Amino acid sequence: MKRLVSSIVAIGAVIALGIIIAVAFGNAAPEKKLMKKHPYVFSQSKEVLKTRQDTYTKKDGCVYLAWPETKNKTTDGLIDAFIQEGKSAYEKAAEAEAGKAKKQRRIPRLVVDYTAVKEEGYTAIELFYELGRYQPDGTGEAITRKEAHFYLDEAGAEMGLNALLGEETEEKLELMLRSSGKKLEDLKDFKLADGQLELIWAESTETFGVEEIRRAGLIDPNKPMIALTFDDGPGKLSKKFADLFARYGGHATFFVVGTNVLNFPEELKYLYEMGNEIGSHTMRHKNLNKLSAEGVRKEVEDADNAIQEVIGKKPDLMRAPYGNANSTVMNVMARPQINWSVDTEDWRSRNAQSVKNEILKGAGDGEIVLMHEIYQSTYDGLEMAIEELAKQGYQFVTVSELMRYRNVTPEVKIYHSFLK
Ligand code: ZN
Repeated sequence: MKRLVSSIVAIGAVIALGIIIAVAFGNAAPEKKLMKKHPYVFSQSKEVLKTRQDTYTKKDGCVYLAWPETKNKTTDGLIDAFIQEGKSAYEKAAEAEAGKAKKQRRIPRLVVDYTAVKEEGYTAIELFYELGRYQPDGTGEAITRKEAHFYLDEAGAEMGLNALLGEETEEKLELMLRSSGKKLEDLKDFKLADGQLELIWAESTETFGVEEIRRAGLIDPNKPMIALTFDDGPGKLSKKFADLFARYGGHATFFVVGTNVLNFPEELKYLYEMGNEIGSHTMRHKNLNKLSAEGVRKEVEDADNAIQEVIGKKPDLMRAPYGNANSTVMNVMARPQINWSVDTEDWRSRNAQSVKNEILKGAGDGEIVLMHEIYQSTYDGLEMAIEELAKQGYQFVTVSELMRYRNVTPEVKIYHSFLK
């Protein structure tokens, strides 16, 4: 009997304890539940700098902080200011949640985290804060995400554009931005990655290739310039064309076909990395005037995506096949359609001497010359002509460079040349 009583007591105690645990866990603060069951995992890529870290709950929400400590007080101050911005955004969000009806209320969560990569000559930091509202089960949504980029020298001091990309970089960028009306002095941030510089203003961004910037100052606005353009690639000859232009310190514009981009991605990358401009010649080289708006859109977007996949950005310029761009086509393309003022008819002649003659016959300051990069005869003819043009003082520029030096703001219309 005694044993039975003690067993009942023991079972009762176990049940009571179970209930206590269940109640305690059930009533645990939602933010603690979220933190325990669905913690934020900090990024691992920060081995080059000393990391400070802090995790806590505040105002019924969760805060995760990880930030770098540099060897420079000014930089640390800037980093701190950015974190403070994130914290005040969090405070506001937490107050907003507290003011909501219980059913609508979510758990505010602030994450401050960063990645740091050591590059040649500098360390690149991408610091960000992300503010979100969540359920205890981890589902939720981000409210804001902001990034700040820092480029540090050996001493941990922040490097500006000139320090990073060379003297006169800012001067060159001012020139390159002239037609956009944007000013460097209003810049909020910039990001340098994968050979591209992204300039970030409050409301917009602009991206330039590092190679494009490097050579921007080398063009003399008082000397004649010509835009040599090549359609229907990329292909087996692309690298040879890029090397030929490199030999003369010049560049060209290549209007590429999406299906060829899929077959020759390396060739396209080479053209671009050598500083040439890549324009779109659509995905499948159809006569766009015969397609519906939807059909045109597919041709344009597929090519944009194929090109972006390789060079990291969508082309700014287009050349519809055969130069056929009616108003429907123009609306869908929504960017300048670049036709030509000099037609070499290289596809018809397939003859190097004839290509050379046509180039030299049509050459002039501000002209746009049409060729195709898929014929050996075009390459051979160009090689002869370019030597002659260089002797005459011509500079070989991309279409965008020509526009810039002629003070033309790109519009959605058809251009044939940019004469003085
Ligand atoms: Zn074509």
